Amino acid sequence: MNVYDSEKLKSILLSSGFSITEDERKADVIVLNTCSVREKAERRALGRLWDLSRNKSANPDVALVVAGCMAQRMGEELIQTIPCLDLVLGPDQFFQLPQYLHEFRALRQNNLDKPRVEVSESRESFSCEAFQHEELPYRKHKYISFVAISRGCNNFCSYCVVPYVRGPERHRPVAQIVKEIQLLAESGCKEVTLIGQNVNSYKCDGHDFADLLQTVSEETEIERIRFMTSHPKDLSEKLVNKMASLPKVCEHLHLPLQSGSGRILQKMNRAYTAGDYLKLVEMVKEETDGLSLTTDLIVGFPTETEEDFQQTLNMVEKVEFDSSFMFRYSVREGTKAASFPDDVPEDAKLERLHTLIDLQKKISQKKNQGMIGKSVEVLVDEVSRRDKNKWKGKTRNNKTVVIQADTGVLGKVAWVRVYDADSYTLFGKLDEKG
Ligand code: SAH
Ligand code: SF4
Repeated sequence: MNVYDSEKLKSILLSSGFSITEDERKADVIVLNTCSVREKAERRALGRLWDLSRNKSANPDVALVVAGCMAQRMGEELIQTIPCLDLVLGPDQFFQLPQYLHEFRALRQNNLDKPRVEVSESRESFSCEAFQHEELPYRKHKYISFVAISRGCNNFCSYCVVPYVRGPERHRPVAQIVKEIQLLAESGCKEVTLIGQNVNSYKCDGHDFADLLQTVSEETEIERIRFMTSHPKDLSEKLVNKMASLPKVCEHLHLPLQSGSGRILQKMNRAYTAGDYLKLVEMVKEETDGLSLTTDLIVGFPTETEEDFQQTLNMVEKVEFDSSFMFRYSVREGTKAASFPDDVPEDAKLERLHTLIDLQKKISQKKNQGMIGKSVEVLVDEVSRRDKNKWKGKTRNNKTVVIQADTGVLGKVAWVRVYDADSYTLFGKLDEKG
């Protein structure tokens, strides 16, 4: 979501007459877009802000902006903590950034500039004039793109700060989503990933998420459609059927489990049991050939015992996820879980995390090596910087493939024969026969 938001921020600035430099020594404005979901992300952003602030003290005309969820969560506190900060901008105020920068410039000329906090809960919605801006002047990748279909979250998982910093769930109108995707397709984009904190709870203009997949499939020329993140409680049979029957929808489902222990899942307010999750997995695997299943897992949630953790390991072994994002629990101020004792010692959290990562690596490696000798369909979207005969892309089921080819394959959907694999990557050669 932050990658998408950063592209939008750049687009907003470009369409207001700014230009972009990746060299911060040349910049008149520096914007740091931030994430609050875990403590580690915030600590890194704070470190970076300190560095930027030190550099800025030598050049007070540069506008230093901190944007996104950390700006929303900390607000005024950031101004108190980081010297030389000019603007703290919440995720719902992005469209006002050009105006604030012009105001900063005018005040700065008269030495009247003061740090400013703009984090009002206006909850800028997708239907506002600004978010209808679909000309997409800035995109990092030509052939793949994220497209947000909703913002915010209503789920209030007890550990999670997102509903507080991003506000309630708001869904983007179908016509706007279709228009953005068609524009992307016309500009050469082949694959979109529909994103939201909880995509499968989408409801707008008489469409649920399954209907939206169908409309995007039928009414745009995009070749591949992915989506994330889905919540198990909203995974309907209708959606699974659509995934199986719409050829443009890729065979990948990211379905966060978080924990294998029923007791912990309840304390997390996840609204399903490990048994419910297993039934869903069975249904999806039965319906969709070649599906890859990925997940998010948290270790060291308050009161998690060795036995609870063992249940997470058991689930990972049973489901055999293709890959997982695995995290150590960190307390997020203001959430329900912040009132529980953070009672799993840090070294135990770390040990569990390593055990889990080791298990997942073995499973990923086994699954990936099972692909050796097979021919897979890859959308090639990157050229290797080191070797001009190597490209990178993704299979329909979301595996990264490094491809050897003598001819240019960038932007193409190519058939590739896999000859080697590790836990993270498949290695293949262009398959002439396809
Ligand atoms: N909306 C998505 C993603 C939310 S954030 C979902 O529901 O899955 C991405 C992941 O960060 C979560 O799935 C969770 O595994 C992790 N996460 C969120 N809050 C956390 C916390 N306080 N400590 C550790 N991991 C956390
Ligand atoms: Fe956070 Fe849960 Fe919402 Fe995901 S579904 S953003 S984990 S509250």
